[in-house]
Amino acid sequence: MDIAALEGIAAHAYATAGLDATKGHVPRLARALLGPCAIVRGSRPFVGPAALTRDGDVWTIVIARALTPAQALDAVAHELAHWLLIRHGLAGSDNEEQAADYLAAALLGAPITRRGSSCPPPNSAKAARPGEP
Ligand SMILES: [Zn+2]
Repeated sequence: MDIAALEGIAAHAYATAGLDATKGHVPRLARALLGPCAIVRGSRPFVGPAALTRDGDVWTIVIARALTPAQALDAVAHELAHWLLIRHGLAGSDNEEQAADYLAAALLGAPITRRGSSCPPPNSAKAARPGEP
C-alpha cells in the first residue's frame, strides 16, 4: 500500500473528527470516530494484545488489561488503523498488518514523509556512493 495514501487516511481521519493531527491524540480520535465507549479494557478471549470487534454498527477496540499505557496506546492506534482500512476499502490485502502498523504510526504523529516538503524528489538527486566526494 502506498505510504502517502496511508498518511492521507490519517490526516483525513483527524480532519473528519475535528482534531489537530499534529497532536496525535489517538484515543480521542478513536472515540470521535467510533463512539465514546469505543475503547474498553478486557480480559483475553482474543489473540494478541488487542482486537477490533463489531456488534452491528458498534465497533469496539478491546485492549488487554495487562498492557502498559504505552502498549495500550500502540494497540489502540493499530486497531483504529484496521478500522480505517476497512472504511477505505483497503482491508483484506496480504499486507494489511503492515499497512495497519504504518497507518498506526501516522496516527500517532510519526509519519515518514512530510506534506509540503521542500526536499527534491529522489530521481533528481545524484546517488551517493561511498568514497565519492
Ligand atoms: Zn492487526
